[in-house]
Amino acid sequence: MIYLDYAATTPVDERVLAKMMPYFRDSFGNPSSIHRLGQKAEAAVDEAREKVAAVLGCRSDEVIFTSCGSEADNLALRGAMMAHKDSTKWLLTAKTEHHAVSKTAIQLEKEYGFPLEWLDVNEHGMVTVESLKKAVCNNTTLASVMYANNEIGTINPISDLAQIAKANHILFHTDAVQAAAYLDVNVNKLGVDLMSLGGHKFYGPKGVGALYVRKGTKLMPHLTGGGQEFSLRAGTHNVPYIVGFAEALHLAATERVERIAHVQPMRDHIIGSVLETIPDSKLTGHPEQRLPNHASFIFKDVDGNLLLQMLDAAGFACSSGSACKTGNPEPSEVITALGHSREWALGSLRITLGADTTAEHVESFLKSLPSLVEKARLINHR
Ligand SMILES: *Cc1c(COP(=O)(O)O)cnc(C)c1O
Repeated sequence: MIYLDYAATTPVDERVLAKMMPYFRDSFGNPSSIHRLGQKAEAAVDEAREKVAAVLGCRSDEVIFTSCGSEADNLALRGAMMAHKDSTKWLLTAKTEHHAVSKTAIQLEKEYGFPLEWLDVNEHGMVTVESLKKAVCNNTTLASVMYANNEIGTINPISDLAQIAKANHILFHTDAVQAAAYLDVNVNKLGVDLMSLGGHKFYGPKGVGALYVRKGTKLMPHLTGGGQEFSLRAGTHNVPYIVGFAEALHLAATERVERIAHVQPMRDHIIGSVLETIPDSKLTGHPEQRLPNHASFIFKDVDGNLLLQMLDAAGFACSSGSACKTGNPEPSEVITALGHSREWALGSLRITLGADTTAEHVESFLKSLPSLVEKARLINHR
């Protein structure tokens, strides 16, 4: 099997796994315990928090560990909106967001009546400064715009958007779950108040994430109980996973240049070759402002799910965009938001590269794809 789905998840880096192992058995203590075993675990969590803070360029008490990227998004949106429910109320986000943001926004509107406004995106799925400027009003609490899109790879101009938010006294959240593997996540360069991360998108374990919360940002606690995570998120710390998360993020930051140099030329080759060899194919997402490991396309009159099954049978693991949408016959909301008609939008394909991708993998994929697309098209026309 050739794995070309690194945006869905990544394998745990061996160095990360080695750091995690002692905390399952030898140093298994509860960080809240007074005794030495507990203190050792607490020191590991403290060290992990400092490691994360060093990458984000923030204070360690601004880092809140969560159980995943989705939980970090939920804490940001629910926490901020509920903390401000008596004053301002509008929530701004985009239809191109991950469901952890968009569905949370919809639920907040339904359940608590916070008015929700969808920000316009351009044909590349980008939220522009103009679209945010147009949407802000003096009754807005929070704007949430993802750093890089998981389905189409587009990178949003976060620092420019955050500046607009700041000038209008609006909180700004960014979902950086997909971005952290390849982009600079320094929160002061970005100017964000809240930022979500998830471990398994950058060679850390699944089931652990973090939310950056700028000092002074009011959030309603997410899980109540023990006072863990500065009383914002109760629950005994998942020590090995927190240690793994921090090490994986540290490695992503220190090895960023090499990792980009590894994937980007192969990504460019895929984009050039697919558009040249496959009729009725289009790139989705921004042609330049996109994640360096990310290639995504739509093919006219192709059932994307069928194509994925055929690719799987041929030995290639790819995706139609979002890992959560398999078996859904409706076109992706992200692709639809770009303005594509149904006959194009149903035929989406995402190829995402990573540490173990080789030029041979890419060649073998590019050799197989055109005939599979052609076959899928014939079946569609029957
Ligand atoms: C994967 C992903 C999430 C969800 O993260 P989990 O840790 O899987 O819950 C959120 N946002 C984006 C952009 C993602 O790619």
